[in-house]
Amino acid sequence: MAAVMKANEPVPALPYVRAIAPYQAGKPIEELAREFGLRAEEIVKLASNENPLGMPPSARSAIARALEHLGDAGRYPDSNGFELKAALASKYGVPAEWITLGNGSNDILELAAAALLAPGTSCVYAQHSFAVYALATQSRGARAIVVPAKNLGHDLNAMLAAIAPDTRLMYVANPNNPTGTFIVHSQVAAFLARVPKEVVVVLDEAYNEYLPPEHRFDSTAWVKQHPNLLVSRTFSKAFGLAGLRVGYGIAQAELTDLLNRVRQPFNVNTLAQAAAVAALGDAEFLRKSYELNLRGMRQLIEGFDALALEHVPSFGNFVLVKVGPAAKVYHELLKRGVIVRPVANYGLPEWLRVTVGLPEENAKFLAALPEALAAARGG
Ligand SMILES: *Cc1c(COP(=O)(O)O)cnc(C)c1O
Repeated sequence: MAAVMKANEPVPALPYVRAIAPYQAGKPIEELAREFGLRAEEIVKLASNENPLGMPPSARSAIARALEHLGDAGRYPDSNGFELKAALASKYGVPAEWITLGNGSNDILELAAAALLAPGTSCVYAQHSFAVYALATQSRGARAIVVPAKNLGHDLNAMLAAIAPDTRLMYVANPNNPTGTFIVHSQVAAFLARVPKEVVVVLDEAYNEYLPPEHRFDSTAWVKQHPNLLVSRTFSKAFGLAGLRVGYGIAQAELTDLLNRVRQPFNVNTLAQAAAVAALGDAEFLRKSYELNLRGMRQLIEGFDALALEHVPSFGNFVLVKVGPAAKVYHELLKRGVIVRPVANYGLPEWLRVTVGLPEENAKFLAALPEALAAARGG
């Protein structure tokens, strides 16, 4: 007879898995509507760095076409993502064999950890950088080497100095989330030249498409120079496909082959692949998204300046603002139908991260902010 577990007996979790603090996602609109008795239409969500334009119409049509063509998506997706890889390969001038598709770029970050980390190894990343680096490291039982930030951004020299004999992986977010800080390409190039060949660098460029022209740089050129570099990008932010979950990594063939060994065979679904091909070719949507972000960022910063609130100059589609009692201000904003992101879990308990929205969404947030600040500071 099979053994029966006693009710009070814990499941046999790995200790390093049990120690993980789960990822805290931005509050969904429907959840706030239920909790506070608000109408979903009156809620503004500026919490997850999504594109306020939503998905590009070109991607919507591509999905409709894919559904027609496939009937009911009853078949498995193309495991190798032929069309999307071909489109990416031609855009970046790299062989298709250098591309890994991911269920969001989150998946790419995880694949790197799965391929390279285990107990007895370590991973280097920066304080106040993306939460998934800690999750990916911890879930593999690897040791995290968290390097103190400099002016809230990455300190690349300190990160180089922190590399230990057992270090196999480093994560560098550029621009970084949640701080919005950016490392100029000359500094990244100098850093890459100094990283030992046996350490893989994941250069996470989730916000790449929001960079101003003077900071745009073809980082795939570095992939050609460095067999230990994996550049990670996503369709979730400027391309407006966050709900479909599709991202990609670019690395030389050997590293890509490793990632493929730990990848789920059907990790990117059929509709996401079709939408991503369309979005990739939609230069007009990308231009609109960029310009909307530029204007919205100015709007937010003017609002913060008017309230004498400190903010961190940001290169993404979000901005970190110092409000003092952030947990309270966050709650007061929720009551007023505005969802932003508290970042205490990033070691920034006095700050809120605000995603740039549509002009009217930014305005609603800025109108609610002084009231929320007064309520939070008074009570
Ligand atoms: C949003 C984000 C990602 C990935 O998001 P996906 O939706 O999984 O592609 C990766 N890195 C950073 C720094 C991000 O902010």
